[in-house]
Amino acid sequence: KEPPSPYFSSARSKRNGKPVFTDSMDYVLQKKLRVWCSASDEKWELGQIQSISGDDVEIHLVNGEVLTLPPERLLPANPDILDGVDDLIQMSYLNEPSVLYNLQYRYSRDLIYTKAGPVLIAINPLKEVPLYGKDFIRKYRQKLTNDPHVYAIADIAFNEMLRDGINQSIIISGESGAGKTETAKIAMQYLAALGGANGMESEVLQTNVILEALGNAKTSRNDNSSRFGKLTEMHFSETGKICGAKIQTFLLEKSRVVRRASGERSYHIFYQLCSGASPLHRKKLLLRDANYYNYLKQSACLRIDGVDDAKRFSSLLGALDIVQISGENQMELFSMLAVVLWLGNISFSVIDNESHVEVDSNEGLVNAAKLLGCSVPQLVIALSTRKIQAGKENIVQRLTLTQAIDARDALAKSIYAHLFDWIVEQINDSLGTGRQRTRRSISILDIYGFESFNKNGFEQFCINYANERLQQHFNRHLFKLEQEEYLDDGIDWASVEFVDNTDCLSLFEKRPLGLLSLLDEESTFPKATDLSFANKLKQHLSGNPGFKGEQDGAFKICHYAGEVSYDTTGFLEKNRDPLHSESIQLLSSCKSDLPKDFASVMIADSQNKSTLSHHLFVDSQKQSVVNKFKAQLFKLMQQLENTSPHFIRCIQPNNKQRPRQFEHDLVLHQLKCCGVFEVVRISRAGYPTRMTHQQFAERYGFLLSHSVASQNPLSISVAVLQQFSIPPEMYQVGYTKLFLRTGQVAALENAKNRM
Ligand code: ATP
Ligand code: MG
Repeated sequence: KEPPSPYFSSARSKRNGKPVFTDSMDYVLQKKLRVWCSASDEKWELGQIQSISGDDVEIHLVNGEVLTLPPERLLPANPDILDGVDDLIQMSYLNEPSVLYNLQYRYSRDLIYTKAGPVLIAINPLKEVPLYGKDFIRKYRQKLTNDPHVYAIADIAFNEMLRDGINQSIIISGESGAGKTETAKIAMQYLAALGGANGMESEVLQTNVILEALGNAKTSRNDNSSRFGKLTEMHFSETGKICGAKIQTFLLEKSRVVRRASGERSYHIFYQLCSGASPLHRKKLLLRDANYYNYLKQSACLRIDGVDDAKRFSSLLGALDIVQISGENQMELFSMLAVVLWLGNISFSVIDNESHVEVDSNEGLVNAAKLLGCSVPQLVIALSTRKIQAGKENIVQRLTLTQAIDARDALAKSIYAHLFDWIVEQINDSLGTGRQRTRRSISILDIYGFESFNKNGFEQFCINYANERLQQHFNRHLFKLEQEEYLDDGIDWASVEFVDNTDCLSLFEKRPLGLLSLLDEESTFPKATDLSFANKLKQHLSGNPGFKGEQDGAFKICHYAGEVSYDTTGFLEKNRDPLHSESIQLLSSCKSDLPKDFASVMIADSQNKSTLSHHLFVDSQKQSVVNKFKAQLFKLMQQLENTSPHFIRCIQPNNKQRPRQFEHDLVLHQLKCCGVFEVVRISRAGYPTRMTHQQFAERYGFLLSHSVASQNPLSISVAVLQQFSIPPEMYQVGYTKLFLRTGQVAALENAKNRM
């Protein structure tokens, strides 16, 4: 039977059906060392080899049980001196159970951070852990500890920035709920503590409160899930003081404003406003309780356990003040939110047997118009009619019920999305975006990780595309670093091959026959459907090994992190993201400033292609969603390319948002998805153990059975290697360090333990 995972096979290969063990496994058997046993496919257990007879190995498990297994069900375990090492690279054996065991060993002791070479792994504790605050910041600042930590990463970035004058980036990735946003804030807190001087640091920190209110929501997987990607660029003066910041955001999930799964919420700010607004605000905004609004009450979830929305609202007001958003602008922000809520309460009545509608004259309609600063008839026209060009004439057509609801929802979504962009702009104005770019900045990227669910749609398609781009950045960078270290120390080094995702990226980006181009092309045909799009993909991409067309409009993509099947339902509509020209005209004729601003942004967006059209959705002229996203992503990659990157991979230990539960399968899946095994694999091909001559001599010199003529660390080290018959292909001697292949230290540690 095959081992349960492809990673296991790298530890051994099969020849003529017989397992052939690498030196290290032979060694483990011969010396009867600790092993991982897989009696079943799901679980690995630690044991010690007792005896071997023929093809049977008898193992005593830690829990006292005795197992008899064939050798191919065993993997070498690390000597116990390596239990809980803080860098996976120190492990002699880098197989899956060893890595998992090591992470769990640490996690159960609240050591949530572990390094995987240059990458920091952060496992979400889902409870408070005593690892943060002033004292810890001081310890890292003064280098009194080497424990892996976000602070340590931020510290390195800060020092490199000041010392070398190179912009830095901290790239944080991981699944929803894995802890990216918290990690980003922890990094920002450290940098704010280091660079605090004039109050700018608290302004920067408070931006998080504002953006979380507008861009985060309760989902089934995270009570505070970010529904957008974010790059926060912090600028520093020559002396390391924060002198400004700039925030860029990516792809806000605006559909949440009008629709979402039951049990989830819309954006926090709506509930905060409804429960926290002062009586004066309530009167001005014609505000009611959250359960009065269709957009809020429809998902049957108005509250989050342990969260006081009213209290959060007062923190939000505090943050808006600290970030210097004027009272007037705050009021505009709130009234646009109220517009969105009232829009959701507008209803329609069917007036003929072709399902054409008229707008019900209710308080939703009246209040939305009042807050927008338009007349009721103007709003009615925008929501229930459409002008069509017939020959040279414009005729006005009534919308059907579905069309009218879509038009209303599209308007609400569009107002919210523009409001979000607008507040980001206000924040940037206040944090001094206009200031000159320095070469002293640290950018922190908090962006959605790779997603693979039972059902994957347009959102996952975009998110996973972004992750392919980021993965490429990750790969290139880590290989470069790795190989530079070898070259710097002057050892023989032939380039290591790695799983390159260039093919997958080109499957997306190729023109004219890549996924993105084909989607855009199909989106411009008025008659196209999701199914015709799926067929088009099949027709053009079937020869591509990374693509598989499936039944019922689905298709599969082979991503670096695994195969994902996408359902094309809704792709075209979401990519077009239509908004009636009537709605834009409505906004531009409003008396309030914000709607007018939004309209001019919308018009500018569509102008680079052609002028406003009255007979189709304006969207057929405007940039598609994937096109815009791709442009944003390219800009992001360019920015990151000009920085020295630091990677943090956040891991979700279980799906229940509960502390102390470490689920092996789930963790393993994420380690694979976010490329940790990739880094580990590179290390396996290389020399994961690196010690200076000095360190090595100190640690193992006493094992020598004869004295060495020269007492310098290098001679001692080489003598040790020879005495233990470590084959020459298993190590290299560099100018300053010894580089050893996987498993070699285990032999030495074993000898040491027997002394
Ligand atoms: P999403 O992609 O949905 O935005 P995320 O990766 O940003 O998810 P967070 O919101 O940062 O996840 O974390 C989810 C929750 O996990 C937090 O609200 C917090 O309760 C807990 N958490 C994360 N990191 C830590 C930490 N270092 N210490 C304590 N709790 C944490
Ligand atoms: Mg988040």
